[in-house]
Amino acid sequence: MAMAPPATTLKTGKIIEIIKAHKIRLHPTPEQEAYLRRACGTRRFIYNWGLAEWQRQYQAGEQPSALALKKQFNGLRGVEFPWTYDVTKCVVEGAFDDVGKAFSNFFAKRTEYSQFKKKGKSQESFYLANDHLTVGDHWVQVPVLGDFIVKQREAKGETITKRAQLKRRLGKINLAEKLRFTDKTDKTSKIMGATIRCEAGWWFLSVQVQVQVPQTPLEGPPVGIDLGFMRLATLSDDTRFENQKPLRHLLAQVRYLNQQLARRQKGSKNREKTKRKLARLQYRIRCLRDDLLHKVAHQITERYGFIGLEDLNVRGMFQNRQHALSASDAALGRLAHLIETKAQAHGTPVQRVGRFFPSTKRCHRCHHLREIAEDERVYVCFNPACGWVGDRDLNAALNILEEALRLASVAV
Ligand SMILES: [Zn+2]
Repeated sequence: MAMAPPATTLKTGKIIEIIKAHKIRLHPTPEQEAYLRRACGTRRFIYNWGLAEWQRQYQAGEQPSALALKKQFNGLRGVEFPWTYDVTKCVVEGAFDDVGKAFSNFFAKRTEYSQFKKKGKSQESFYLANDHLTVGDHWVQVPVLGDFIVKQREAKGETITKRAQLKRRLGKINLAEKLRFTDKTDKTSKIMGATIRCEAGWWFLSVQVQVQVPQTPLEGPPVGIDLGFMRLATLSDDTRFENQKPLRHLLAQVRYLNQQLARRQKGSKNREKTKRKLARLQYRIRCLRDDLLHKVAHQITERYGFIGLEDLNVRGMFQNRQHALSASDAALGRLAHLIETKAQAHGTPVQRVGRFFPSTKRCHRCHHLREIAEDERVYVCFNPACGWVGDRDLNAALNILEEALRLASVAV
């Protein structure tokens, strides 16, 4: 089993481009918030329009495309949907991009058939293209925002002086912190775009920045990783990362609040209160989970020079109802993705092992195969000549390491 890791042929100091995202809390004024809500609503309307039109054309035997739909929409816009001009045209662009993505994902069988977005049910957001976006020290300039507020004030009978100046001032939303990864003097990084979204009643700006970083090659032993429902990650050297306990506790609270919500009268104040509580709790859980995944991915990618990972069929996991909670809990697909992106910074090779590879059924020592039930935590090899006994996930991780090294040496 003691195979040498494949030699990496990386030159030191190679510059690579990676996309980093920075999510910043926004502090909009009530007037600005009205615009953000309007933009999200417009985006939802256009997305649903595009989806319905796509379905209609597809059923009529035509071949719809996101681009053609956008043209069709823009043709109708002035007459039928003039109110969509109240917000930036980025909203229209972004909505049709998303319709296009939803259908290409569906046709590639990556996702379920796209659902219509319902007010209050779907995540509220809209996209801003990089050429319509200026980020300053503690503000972001949102297109058409200043214009929108000035018009609203005029409609209320206010007289506006110094119009252009006022528009500029009102169009800037306060940021809770300074944007990382880039500034005006930095020629090596650029803003790719941003999304504004509402989560749990709070507003956020997510900026995607492309940065150039020197790769820092890393010497380290090879490792195989088993990602799991019970234990988050088990490494082939028997390092173990447990699922976070507080998360389980918070998930119990989510269940409790959901029950409470079901008992509240529709449209009542208390129902709204419970809803808000639930949204904030879920937001907290998302943050905690993401934090844990980042830390685990960081620790793994700082320590090893070659990484073997299982190719997860996340969709398959969610279809298995028994696993639905713990799978979302552990967010295994996201962890695998984080490991891959962080490994990139070191040029560390990540080898995926096919999902039909019997990593849990095979004995890593003698390759004997056996069935093993979901709840059996200990692997016992039934081959009398071997008889290895040990942790189930450790056995899987050792199998994954061996297979990953084999695949990597074949590929060279
Ligand atoms: Zn064995």
